[in-house]
Amino acid sequence: MINLVLFGPPGAGKGTQAEFLKEKYELVHISTGDVFRFNIKNATELGVLAKSFIDKGQLVPDEVTINMLNAEVEKNPEAKGFIFDGFPRTSAQADALGELLASKSTDVSAMVALEVEDEILVERLLERGKTSGRADDADESVIRNRIAVYYKETAILKNYYQAKDKYFGIDGVGSIPEITERISKVIDAL
Ligand code: AMP
Repeated sequence: MINLVLFGPPGAGKGTQAEFLKEKYELVHISTGDVFRFNIKNATELGVLAKSFIDKGQLVPDEVTINMLNAEVEKNPEAKGFIFDGFPRTSAQADALGELLASKSTDVSAMVALEVEDEILVERLLERGKTSGRADDADESVIRNRIAVYYKETAILKNYYQAKDKYFGIDGVGSIPEITERISKVIDAL
């Protein structure tokens, strides 16, 4: 199996790249943000809970997120591999992912990190907010909070996967196909 963690701050282009990579490598794409938004739209119990965190740009609690991610993986027993987009975002989530994959006799193959500087992220997200309908893209202070949360809670995962020789940093600025090509080089060499 190829199990990719697509990593990077909000607005780095994880979702965009995942759409191309899932076709190219026949992987199942799991975006925790998308699953939360689906639940919010359908006003499920999970959606109502998640919304209170997401609208402020905060992380949804680990236990809730980990249970949800486990359920998404279990829905795809035939998968050749996964692209995890937006997960893990904390060390507890990274440990949980390792355990889940170990229970399937597999592991994270690589963390591919899209590196983009903060001011470009803010610009991209404000632009996306004009059409995404996402409350968390519409307000610059929420966007800046999401980026701050990334540095405070999530960026540490670079060390986590670097220690396992699984971290691959990619320049996330360029055209969409250029960046897909950069990521593909990493995947093809795995
Ligand atoms: P995203 O679509 O990845 O930008 O995620 C949107 C929002 O969903 C985040 O700002 C968080 O509030 C929440 N979220 C998504 N993934 C996670 C995660 N792995 N852990 C906690 N919260 C998450």
